[in-house]
Amino acid sequence: MQVRRVAVLGGGPGGLYAARLLKLADPACAVTVHEQGEPDATFGFGVGLAAGTQRKLEAADPDTLREIVATGYRHDMTMQVGSDVARVHNDRLVGVARTELLAILQRHAEKAGVELEFGCRRTVAELDADVVIAADGVSSATREDGPFGSRIETGRGLYLWCGTDFPLDDAVFAPVTTEHGVFVTHAYPYSGGRSTFLVETDEATWRRAGFDTADVPPDGSDEISLRYLQEAFAPLLRGRPLIGNRTRWLRFRTVRCDRWSDGRTVLLGDAAHTAHYSIGSGTKLAMEDAIALVEALREPEAFATYERVRRPAVERLQELSRRSQLWWESFAARQHLPVAQLMVAYMSRAGNVPLERFAITSPDVVAAAIGRHDEAAGVVDGVLERQPVPRGGLAPIDDVVVDPWDVAGDAVVARAQASGAAGFRLTGPADRGALLTRLDLAERIRLATHGFVEVDGPAELRDDLAAGLVSGRADRVTFSEGGA
Ligand SMILES: Cc1cc2nc3c(=O)[nH]c(=O)nc-3n(C[C@H](O)[C@H](O)[C@H](O)COP(=O)(O)OP(=O)(O)OC[C@H]3O[C@@H](n4cnc5c(N)ncnc54)[C@H](O)[C@@H]3O)c2cc1C
Repeated sequence: MQVRRVAVLGGGPGGLYAARLLKLADPACAVTVHEQGEPDATFGFGVGLAAGTQRKLEAADPDTLREIVATGYRHDMTMQVGSDVARVHNDRLVGVARTELLAILQRHAEKAGVELEFGCRRTVAELDADVVIAADGVSSATREDGPFGSRIETGRGLYLWCGTDFPLDDAVFAPVTTEHGVFVTHAYPYSGGRSTFLVETDEATWRRAGFDTADVPPDGSDEISLRYLQEAFAPLLRGRPLIGNRTRWLRFRTVRCDRWSDGRTVLLGDAAHTAHYSIGSGTKLAMEDAIALVEALREPEAFATYERVRRPAVERLQELSRRSQLWWESFAARQHLPVAQLMVAYMSRAGNVPLERFAITSPDVVAAAIGRHDEAAGVVDGVLERQPVPRGGLAPIDDVVVDPWDVAGDAVVARAQASGAAGFRLTGPADRGALLTRLDLAERIRLATHGFVEVDGPAELRDDLAAGLVSGRADRVTFSEGGA
């Protein structure tokens, strides 16, 4: 594709990175980024970049990656329930301040010859260019006003994003129960003096605490909620304050589009798609989009190539993110689990961390979860061999649901409760997605009825079935293909 002038709408990580890569690939191309905000004004705190993303950024632009990693902050990860802690070593995840990340990307874009315009809100129509890259974020006006077939799904939980003025020792997942219900934080250090402190809760708790009636000024923070959470999480915060930055309760919006381009305009990053914050992938997706788009611009059918290359990876992550979101939205129901078991449940929530692999990287956590210390490798076989004896008289359940925690799930649970059965056997389709959802439905039935729950699945998905046992989603599993 012959491109001489490119306008980038939005100076977030996706837009800035695309601009720099474009200029590096083709120095003769004139590239301008139009950002409505000022260069050093951004909302938010830190974002996380995992090892896989760092490898991709390294291959695309080693100079920028080196600087990002140099400002970043490495940390382990802990699940903390009261005084019980499970720790997972993870020194390859880097937390970076969003402000720092943007400052680096701005500097590197300028160094490559990109023009940056700040302080002006623009529309695609007023930009004079061969190609417009619309990287205008989750609330993209380009997407909303254009024929991109966008769909937005709003989460049922509420979250707010704030920070601390000291670095936590690790990334921490920690629930607290107040008189109104359960709040859980996802917090992680991202610099020598700061941590991101995200808190989420369910709608009923949020209303009981009176947060639904908060009157928050457009540029201010919800100070009442911040003071409440500061008290609730005081031990974890070591008595330090929570810091707001236009902090308010939000519902997560998952964006999907039927197509990512129209004429000379192409969507990139959050404008095209979002993935729940609990898999920490928004920045990753935006920057990886930028790499793919710039490579595709060498091809004659550039936008079609970009979409063909990126869509499968984006949709895969969106499916992981959907599962992760459902797990977090139902977190309060499983906080009674011993902390090691809760950590395994967390690690297996989206189906992307095999139990066998997790047992190798975190043998102490898995050993504590299964109550045995003699199995680091081969844990799946061990767990499956030590299953309780089969039970008869289990009521069959073969419902197929998409979301075990929505009304369809409610109906299955209500029927199970009304049946008065002492146990249930869940069967269904053999594909992996269906099995993972069946295990989640089993967990919900188990929590609601306190009955014995058996789940059937294909033998080749034995890792998922074993993870279901260890994390308390099922009491027993069987193999529909007859293997074990
Ligand atoms: C609570 C929370 C936690 C998160 N945690 C993580 C994490 O741990 N790891 C991670 O990788 N990601 C995380 N993210 C996601 C991440 O912040 C975004 O996904 C990422 O910034 C997307 O990049 P982007 O460039 O597509 O859009 P954005 O960063 O949103 O940038 C869009 C830019 O466009 C500008 N703009 C919009 N409209 C116009 C216009 N008309 N004219 C000019 N400028 C315009 C905006 O001002 C903005 O600067 C988190 C997000 C949230 C909400």
